[in-house]
Amino acid sequence: MKRFIELAALSVAILIVAGQHPAPAQTPSMSGGPVDPAIVEDLVAANRVLADEGVLDAYGHVSMRDPRNPSRYMMSRSLAPILVSASDIMEFDLDSTPVDQRGRLMYLERFIHGEIYKARPDVNSVVHCHTPSFLPFCVCQVGLRPIYHMSGFLGRGVARFEIRDFAAEATDMLVSNPELGKGLAKSLGDKQIVLMRGHGATMAGQSVKHAVFRAIYGALNAAVQLEAMRLGEVTYLSDEEALKGAEINDRFVDRSWTLWKLEALAKK
Ligand code: MN
Repeated sequence: MKRFIELAALSVAILIVAGQHPAPAQTPSMSGGPVDPAIVEDLVAANRVLADEGVLDAYGHVSMRDPRNPSRYMMSRSLAPILVSASDIMEFDLDSTPVDQRGRLMYLERFIHGEIYKARPDVNSVVHCHTPSFLPFCVCQVGLRPIYHMSGFLGRGVARFEIRDFAAEATDMLVSNPELGKGLAKSLGDKQIVLMRGHGATMAGQSVKHAVFRAIYGALNAAVQLEAMRLGEVTYLSDEEALKGAEINDRFVDRSWTLWKLEALAKK
């Protein structure tokens, strides 16, 4: 033991002499190590699918809880989603602190993701978007309701987030700190989608496939609902129809995922 201590002291001395600093005794978060490439590929595909489908533009993001460690999540560095590759994926703890930043820029609104994962153990993927079709429903009190079976999950409830309820003074509307992230997670509650006033929407899923599915069909529903409302009185799905539709979609989410992923990855 004494010999070990001497060697350790010698190593530190050598590092100092060499002009380097020894590594800090404790790093804030330890990496879980390399992730299965197939998992990373799904997250890369999710970025490109959401861009292809018009849900994300240069902004917005999608994350996935680390399947090896529920207290970590993975998300791209700050980058337009269509451009995301495997090497852009970073690892964060649930405080949204990067495990190994290496100088990379990070999404300012990453707290949306970390705080939802903290509050919701059942959620393994989060999508945050500014998709235009959601916006009328974010700023008006008209409810976003299920028009057809593909968006049946809306029948499980649509939450709302008012950033003014969680900030002492006017904000730039971004959920860019832990307190606002906690407010968003609290507003989401046990739902799968939350509309954010003057901003956009955030969707949660038990897998990245489910979160992507809800983002795409939620945005489609918003667009179609607006069209239907222009025509006249709308007959929405009943609560029971919506819930049964949502259950079926949750079971067969692989069908659309397989197609979207194939198309998105074939383009690069
Ligand atoms: Mn945003």
